[in-house]
Amino acid sequence: MEEELLRLKSEATETLVACSNADELESFRVKYLGRKGLFTSVMRNLGNAPKEDRPRLGQLANTIKKDLEAAFTEKSEAVTQGQAGKAKSGDDDLTLPGRATPVGGLHPVTKVMEEICGVFERLGFTVAEGPDIESDFYNFEGLNIPKHHPARDMHDTFYISDNVLLRTHTSPMQVRTMEKSEPPLRMIAPGKVYRCDSDITHTPMFHQVEGFLVDKKVSFADLKGVLAVFIAKMFDENTAIRFRPSFFPFTEPSAEVDIACVICKGEGCRVCKQTGWLEILGAGMIDPEVFKKVGYDPEEYSGFAFGLGVERIAMLKYGITDIRLFYENDLRFLKQF
Ligand SMILES: [Zn+2]
Repeated sequence: MEEELLRLKSEATETLVACSNADELESFRVKYLGRKGLFTSVMRNLGNAPKEDRPRLGQLANTIKKDLEAAFTEKSEAVTQGQAGKAKSGDDDLTLPGRATPVGGLHPVTKVMEEICGVFERLGFTVAEGPDIESDFYNFEGLNIPKHHPARDMHDTFYISDNVLLRTHTSPMQVRTMEKSEPPLRMIAPGKVYRCDSDITHTPMFHQVEGFLVDKKVSFADLKGVLAVFIAKMFDENTAIRFRPSFFPFTEPSAEVDIACVICKGEGCRVCKQTGWLEILGAGMIDPEVFKKVGYDPEEYSGFAFGLGVERIAMLKYGITDIRLFYENDLRFLKQF
């Protein structure tokens, strides 16, 4: 009898596991747990067992039946839920268009900055970034701009304290790099710079790329060659260039570089103020005084440096007339790039 009960238990458990819908579950219930089911008939036969075994067998039969009933309830719930889930997913309209995830794009200033860096990297320049908060030494003194030098007036500096400021150009990276390494050096330093100035062509924060090259026997012709390649890659290959003498305290001689107006091709228009030329960068041969400050021998080494405004290049490339558009975060403007 005990064997009979245990065999019935394992048979019923297997059947229950195999049930996958409400119909099968119902026939399971009738066959094993119902009033005329197999368990009921086994228990009815309990009277035939030896008297001393009856309580133990009765208890065993009850436990098995309770376990089976619990397993049956659990299975019924699982099957019902599974069917509900199926019915629901069947209602979905699979022909509906999906929800697109909006994909962002790079800011036009970032794009142009990456493009500029890309051109110089192909020419063998490495990229170095430095701190936005600089000391007076790296921003001015090291670049041959002593205190009370009139050139400081052009910079409209944001001072944090007497000796600490927001860098007004990325040129401090020249001094920082030369201090730490020996020539030959070929490097560009892109980044944010800050000046207390704001109108349609100036913002208090803008981006600059500073570049420099130091080696033996570097001449102005090398500077001109590198900048000519850069301008040909950034604009049109046939873009005319001119160098105008200028002044920067950290280069000697210094020049401002113009390109033929990209709008009127040199004919003269409102953008180029009828001159046919647009100024795009400043450059020059590194002043021997700068070399002395970092411990290079100016008799042995020479080099050139240049600096350009990224927003300025982006404005010329894309025909943008107001620099402030870059920082208003108007998606209608930004999405055009
Ligand atoms: Zn023009």
